[in-house]
Amino acid sequence: MLKTHTCGELRVEHAGQRVTLAGWVNRRRDQGGLIFIDLRDRWGLTQVVADQKSVAHAVMEELRSEYVIQVTGRVRPRPAGSENPKLATGAIEVEADEVRLLNPAKTPPFNINEEFPVDELIRLKYRYLDLRRDRMRNNIVLRHRISQFIRNYLSDKGFIEVETPILFKTTPEGARDYLVPSRVHPGQFYALPQSPQQLKQLLMVAGVERYFQIARCFRDEDQRGDRQPEFTQLDMEMSFVQRDDVMTLVEGLITTLVETVSDKKILKKPWPRFTYHEAMDRFGDDKFDLRYGMELQDIATLAKGHGFKVFDEAEQVKAIVAPGCAAYSRKQIDELTEFVKGFGAKGLLWVAVGEEARSSFSKFVPEDKINAIIEKVGARQGDLILVVAGTPAGVAGALSRLRAELGARLNLADPNVLAFCWVIEFPLFTWREEEKRWDPNHHLFTSPLPEDIPLLDTEPGKARGAQYDMVCNNYEVAGGSIRIHDRKLQEKVFRLIGLSFEVAQERFGHMLEAFEFGTPPHGGIAPGIDRLAMLLAGEPNIREVIAFPKSQQAADLMAGAPSPVEPRQLKELHVAITD
Ligand code: ASP
Repeated sequence: MLKTHTCGELRVEHAGQRVTLAGWVNRRRDQGGLIFIDLRDRWGLTQVVADQKSVAHAVMEELRSEYVIQVTGRVRPRPAGSENPKLATGAIEVEADEVRLLNPAKTPPFNINEEFPVDELIRLKYRYLDLRRDRMRNNIVLRHRISQFIRNYLSDKGFIEVETPILFKTTPEGARDYLVPSRVHPGQFYALPQSPQQLKQLLMVAGVERYFQIARCFRDEDQRGDRQPEFTQLDMEMSFVQRDDVMTLVEGLITTLVETVSDKKILKKPWPRFTYHEAMDRFGDDKFDLRYGMELQDIATLAKGHGFKVFDEAEQVKAIVAPGCAAYSRKQIDELTEFVKGFGAKGLLWVAVGEEARSSFSKFVPEDKINAIIEKVGARQGDLILVVAGTPAGVAGALSRLRAELGARLNLADPNVLAFCWVIEFPLFTWREEEKRWDPNHHLFTSPLPEDIPLLDTEPGKARGAQYDMVCNNYEVAGGSIRIHDRKLQEKVFRLIGLSFEVAQERFGHMLEAFEFGTPPHGGIAPGIDRLAMLLAGEPNIREVIAFPKSQQAADLMAGAPSPVEPRQLKELHVAITD
């Protein structure tokens, strides 16, 4: 080894020892007679010092930031008063007697030793330098600890980790596939797995009983917001279980994980559970933030019947209370109105609660009704009630987004809290009007709740799925379900979603066949590791917790991928570029 200790290791107990350290020059300070270097490696920083009389001084004069060096010297306590309590090694320094330059470095495109905003495109192009920074290093170390914890926890509970193929066949998670042309089979393609869904179910047929994998998934979706073409899931599946068995196990895993690898607090234990309908009713969405109130409240009975068309003709009238926002200006309210219009609302109405209530609908709705609305929604002096009227989907879409937006603007959410909860009893299907068919809400292997199976023949839209989603701080962190393990029921679902017998056979014949060889009842779930790491690290998006993420345009800016290939390669693959 070129080093005897790490740069995060030395303490006063080491005083007097001769050590060798190696790493990067984080910062150099030349004070004439003395040169100081903060030497950095993955474990931390150590101050190295040389005085004019030493040979080391001459070498250190030539050093610049990010040069790679090796230092040998004696550990000594720092002179009284110059200790740095913020640094783990801040009580000591290494008095260098030998310094070797192992490799010089060009001036980096951004400072590595300081935390300040750098353009993300530059960070991604020089990701290997970005990863040297404290914030990113902490994130990748945290991510390692998360995976390590999961592996140990699940192994202790009898799970085994099984790798599944990347070159596979389409997996129906509802996104577009990444396809890989086959050289050996002209005109045929592999699909990269959108998740190992089919394979984990086949592992249950194989008798594995408790499977997990830290699995890469590939979905060719538009890169809006917080998506990546490839991302990582903790993929799990268990046999001989019912819905609560999976939920309890995963809740235990995630709770212990959070409490072991981070200092974030979990809002409520055990995690609250909401049915899908309750979630839609109270939050307008199936993912929401429980760290603050501002729930959606139905005010239709008070708002309707006064001859105000906007309310009278609406299927739903709902409100949220923005705390302390009564003094919002016209301009601020206009801004919020534009905001909700982007999410399906026709407009935004309001009541500002003060000594006297002011309201955008006071001309149309009598004062006593406005006061009754204030009372019903529990608004207090200084609050602003925001009202949306329209279809249930329009109201939910607009108010859920408005709730999240105001939550962020008003800093209502404690960043140190993780508000986990479960959402259950989703409808099994959603109706696709354009295609006149049912679409699975989760995926097509999700079982209906046993008591709802008869509804598949009568009112499929009313059937609830044995699906469970894990939600935290406005994100869906995991989705899972108890699966169909009966060939007949699976075929019925295929028919309902409009998959012809031939197509079902071609795509999933292997699953249907497998189901006939003694398939145990089974179910699973797949928490997103990127998202969990993001929440635990307190980062704003998943790119910050992925070592080498793609840009928002789905490109690797460091290596330059995707990129054109040689015509010869295309020919071998029997592929022609058409535009
Ligand atoms: N395969 C599902 C997903 O990727 C998870 C599951 O059902 O276990 O969302």
